[in-house]
Amino acid sequence: MSGTADGYLEVTGRIRAAEAEAERPAGAVTLVAVSKTHGPETIRPVIEAGQRIFGENRVQEAQGKWPALKAEFPDVELHLIGPLQSNKAGDAVALFDAIESIDREKIAAALAAEMEKQGRRPKLFVQVNIGEEPQKAGIPPLEAVAFVARCREVHGLAIAGLMCIPPVDASPGPYFALLAKLAREAGVEELSMGMSSDFETAIAFGATSVRVGSAIFGARDYG
Ligand SMILES: *Cc1c(COP(=O)(O)O)cnc(C)c1O
Repeated sequence: MSGTADGYLEVTGRIRAAEAEAERPAGAVTLVAVSKTHGPETIRPVIEAGQRIFGENRVQEAQGKWPALKAEFPDVELHLIGPLQSNKAGDAVALFDAIESIDREKIAAALAAEMEKQGRRPKLFVQVNIGEEPQKAGIPPLEAVAFVARCREVHGLAIAGLMCIPPVDASPGPYFALLAKLAREAGVEELSMGMSSDFETAIAFGATSVRVGSAIFGARDYG
C-alpha cells in the first residue's frame, strides 16, 4: 500500500524539479492525481501523504467510490477529465469541483443550466483536440478561441482554461506550445496538459496543472 504514496512523492519531486528547470515558481503547477480504475485502498495512502486533487474520467465510477472518501477527507477536490454526456451534466455538477472536458456546445448549455439550478460553480476547462485526431474528443484548434467566447457570451460560463491530450506517438512539445498560444488568444489563464509520459515537457511549456495517473498508481487494468 505504501507503493502509491512512494509513487506520489516521486511525482511531486519531479514536478518541483521541472518547475525549477523551467524557472517557474515552486508550486506553480498543480498535480491532478488520476485515480480512474483504482479503488479506495489504493487511493487512500496518496491522500494520507498529502494529495488533495484527484481526476476521474467516468461520472458513474466516481459516484461509486468518492462520496465515502470525501466524507473521510472533506477537502478533497475532484476533476472530471473524461467525456461528459449531457444527461450526466447534473451528476457531474453535483460531484465534481472542476470539469475539464467541455467539448461541444450542447455540454456547455447543459452545464450552464445545471450550475444555475444547483448553485454550484465547478471550475471549467474547454478540451481542445490539439492533434485534430478523429478518435479524440475536443474542439478543433482553429475553433477553440471562438468556442471559449461562445461559452462566455452565449452560456454565461466562466472558462478557467484549456485542456488537451496530445497524440501518443508524436513529440508533445509543439502541441503544448499550441495550447498555450490558444489560451493566450482566448484570454484564459490555466493550461491542463501533461500526463505520466510527458508532464515535465508540459511544465516547460507552461502547464498550470498536470494530470498524472500511472506514474503514481502504477499500470491500470483497464481504462
Ligand atoms: C488517464 C488519463 C490521464 C492520466 O494518464 P497517465 O498516462 O496514466 O498519467 C490524464 N488525462 C486524461 C484525460 C486521462 O484520461
